[in-house]
Amino acid sequence: MTRFHASLVDTSVLDSIASFCKTVLAPEARMTDREARFATHHIKALSEMGIMGMNLPTEYGGMGLDPYTLLEAMANISGTCASTGSMVSAHFLCSDSIKFGGSEEQKQKYLPSLASGEKLGAFALTEPSAGSDPASMLTKATRAGDHYHIKGTKHFISNAGAADVFVIYAKTDPAAGGKGVSAFVVEKKNGGITLGKAEPTMGLRGAHAFEFSIDARVPAENRLGDEGSGLRTAMKTLDAGRIDIAMCSVGIAEAAYAAALEWVKTRKMGGVNISTYQGLQWMLADMATEIAAARGLCLETIRKRAAGERYSIEAAMAKLFASEMAGRVTDKALQIHGGYGFTQSYDVERYVRDARIMRIYEGTSEIQRNIIARSLIAD
Ligand SMILES: Cc1cc2nc3c(=O)[nH]c(=O)nc-3n(C[C@H](O)[C@H](O)[C@H](O)COP(=O)(O)OP(=O)(O)OC[C@H]3O[C@@H](n4cnc5c(N)ncnc54)[C@H](O)[C@@H]3O)c2cc1C
Repeated sequence: MTRFHASLVDTSVLDSIASFCKTVLAPEARMTDREARFATHHIKALSEMGIMGMNLPTEYGGMGLDPYTLLEAMANISGTCASTGSMVSAHFLCSDSIKFGGSEEQKQKYLPSLASGEKLGAFALTEPSAGSDPASMLTKATRAGDHYHIKGTKHFISNAGAADVFVIYAKTDPAAGGKGVSAFVVEKKNGGITLGKAEPTMGLRGAHAFEFSIDARVPAENRLGDEGSGLRTAMKTLDAGRIDIAMCSVGIAEAAYAAALEWVKTRKMGGVNISTYQGLQWMLADMATEIAAARGLCLETIRKRAAGERYSIEAAMAKLFASEMAGRVTDKALQIHGGYGFTQSYDVERYVRDARIMRIYEGTSEIQRNIIARSLIAD
């Protein structure tokens, strides 16, 4: 793993997370994937490290990390066990929605138990017929006195199988398109959430995404922000999420690159080390260059975020490039391993499978291109 410059990050935090990754996550990563074991078995250890609250300020029980350290840590976690990284990322989407969209009272009420890992969060935007276009969602929240009746179906929701706190997006004004979406905090213990199936997936096999239906009375005080502000909260949350996914992609690519580098240094063919083949050297050169380019885009995005500037376009560019880069780099790493790379005896095939989702969730590559192009034309 390379890192952002030491002047930008908290090296002692990153060192302890790196050691945690090595000793706790790494030994179980292959098993978590192979057995599709829900990565929640790591929550206790992650909580003890403060990782479940890395994205939150100290006043809500979080670690209060600067964004460089936070995102570098996420790269390390995902490069070690992408299923665990994905579970943590989805948890952050829930607590970030409350952080960005909630009142002070709501933050005080929900964030400390999410920060400590006592409660697991889920972020429920996608529906069976509303993925890339959340404004077309069908879930409705109908006001009835001091409650809303929320009814609908959400799809592909990470963590839903074990989550205690859901941020659910629903239409309070179905005629108003995207401007009619509101966000709600829904606690599973209050009932009304019925879990459906978690589809087996090609990668991130330890990060289960569930369908669920909701038919629940939710107190009006659980609405985050004004009626109609839901998509704004979701988009702010997804800006933070997209740079997170970009750095998780960097982490997976770096793990694959490190495995490939190690392989060429040790694998011999007729007494000749394969690192002497120029074809493989060039692959490694391209891999290292692409990772560095993705890191550069992420760095600029994080700089803007740290400075309090808008970074939606940069986050879209970073996610687009880093996720596609992770596809190319992990594929080359497998190729460098030859037939061994295709077997389950090595981690590299897992990296290929885990990297694939990065181009899809939190906005597909096509949607990132739409966001970038719209801003170019508007400029
Ligand atoms: C493992 C996993 C975990 C997930 N976790 C969560 C979660 O925790 N919470 C949550 O809310 N969602 C989650 N998702 C959902 C994910 O964000 C969506 O799958 C994603 O946004 C794409 O939506 P879709 O699957 O409906 O594809 P669709 O929107 O149906 O897209 C199909 C194709 O059409 C393309 N397309 C769509 N619109 C356009 C356009 N305007 N221009 C060009 N091309 C377009 C897409 O790029 C794609 O190639 C998860 C998904 C998976 C697989």
